[in-house]
Amino acid sequence: MHEFYLFQSLLLHLSEHLVDFKNPQIRRVILSVGEFSGIDVAYFKTVIDTFKEGTILDGAEIFFEIESLKIHCKSCGAESEPKEKTAKCPLCGSFSVDILTGLDLVIKRIEIEEN
Ligand SMILES: [Zn+2]
Repeated sequence: MHEFYLFQSLLLHLSEHLVDFKNPQIRRVILSVGEFSGIDVAYFKTVIDTFKEGTILDGAEIFFEIESLKIHCKSCGAESEPKEKTAKCPLCGSFSVDILTGLDLVIKRIEIEEN
């Protein structure tokens, strides 16, 4: 039910963005999903489609962009995009890495119409 929680938090964030508009109608939302975020995009889409009726996302199109996993290795200093999608340096094999991108769910763009 992680995705349902994300959906609720998405609604909350969108409402915060829309407080200054009068009767806003959201047309399109673009979400950036990190490939290491643990979010099942197909399932998240289903959750949104199932529960958006009657919410501010009713009638909106949702698009997803996948943000690739990028890491910085603390052992050898290399920056890389591991193909195995694990937080492990592909160059030296170290697990001592910082994750630079690929962890988050971000609202990248909101298109609205005011009624
Ligand atoms: Zn390394």
